[in-house]
Amino acid sequence: MFKLLAPRFKAIIHNYAFGGLSGEDLSEQSRRILLINLFCLVGVLFTLPHGILAFIDGDMMIAASTLSIASLYTFNHIYLRLTFNYEVSSNIILYPLFMLMFFLLYSGGVAQTGFVWIYCIAPVAMFLHGLKRGLIEITFFLIILILIFLFPNEIGATYNWSAELKKRIVYSFLVLGFLSAFYEYSRMKSIHLLRNISKDLEKASKTDPLTNLLNRRGMLEIIRDNNASKKIFDNAIVICDVDFFKKVNDQYGHNVGDEVLIKLSNEFKETWGKDAHISRWGGEEFLIFIPSSLFDIIQPEVERFRKRIESIRFGALDNPFHITLSFGIARFDYQKETVDAAINRADKHLYKAKNHGRNCIFSD
Ligand code: GH3
Ligand code: MG
Ligand code: MG
Repeated sequence: MFKLLAPRFKAIIHNYAFGGLSGEDLSEQSRRILLINLFCLVGVLFTLPHGILAFIDGDMMIAASTLSIASLYTFNHIYLRLTFNYEVSSNIILYPLFMLMFFLLYSGGVAQTGFVWIYCIAPVAMFLHGLKRGLIEITFFLIILILIFLFPNEIGATYNWSAELKKRIVYSFLVLGFLSAFYEYSRMKSIHLLRNISKDLEKASKTDPLTNLLNRRGMLEIIRDNNASKKIFDNAIVICDVDFFKKVNDQYGHNVGDEVLIKLSNEFKETWGKDAHISRWGGEEFLIFIPSSLFDIIQPEVERFRKRIESIRFGALDNPFHITLSFGIARFDYQKETVDAAINRADKHLYKAKNHGRNCIFSD
């Protein structure tokens, strides 16, 4: 029975707690929405029975204020669900809470215990509005609190606390305010650090460490995303492979082989860096994605590049050597085929170039 009901119960709680979260789950936004919803729930669960009891006891002031808060928080949850506007919703939580706390301080609350509730102000302000705005709100609350304590007669306050107790209420509120601000500050720092780490990791996961070009994953993501920017027709996929690269390694060593790959990558960047995306597709193979261009001019461009590389000296000054490249080019229209199919065709053209004696281009 419990096993049967538990998932249903979990779904109801989740649905309630994240009601008002639009689209993507952005962690900071979802955290605030969760807090607003939980606060609404706890607020209603606290104020509603209080209000009913106060009403039965005939304490109409307390009954009216607590029941208003209960209705307001119920409205707030529904408002957030309908509008996804958590900025306004957080204000609907915080400012009435301020008013309620001022009222408790002003009146003393039930049996003069009203002040025990004011400590929730600091963490709630920090949670809902972050460090800067939270600090301003806490300071504002503290100023009003001190004014209520300094001038009870002038404003007609009816609490009955000694000067010593009032001093300690102010001190303890200050301590909690400071701790909440410090907690929020360290939380923001950690989030900032985590975001930076995750950005770096994301970049690293899409970059080839030797050449700093995109790697296969980064390139595939770009080709797939290009679809969204409506550049659908006449894209070119160029695959390039270094001819007899194994011989370079065997003859000059692996380090020289690496230097050739780096130098070659720079040549790619210089030629296509502005208009195209360049990746190290694997080993000594590169894939260049040229979005929406005149397809007919791609082959002459590649031909010029092929000739340029052919003429460049690689290796040490006293022991230079030349390399050549083979190319396969496919025209890619998103509406006609998949990315994989176009890449396969470019690969087949490259294979033909290799079989044709290398140092040449085959194209659609
Ligand atoms: P083909 O003309 O048929 O392409 O001949 P190839 O020798 O270039 O092709 P093969 O696939 O036989 O060899 C590729 C070589 O590329 C083998 C491998 O050691 C080398 N290679 C792959 N990645 C790297 C790298 O990061 N650094 C170096 N130095 N060599 C690499
Ligand atoms: Mg090769
Ligand atoms: Mg190869």
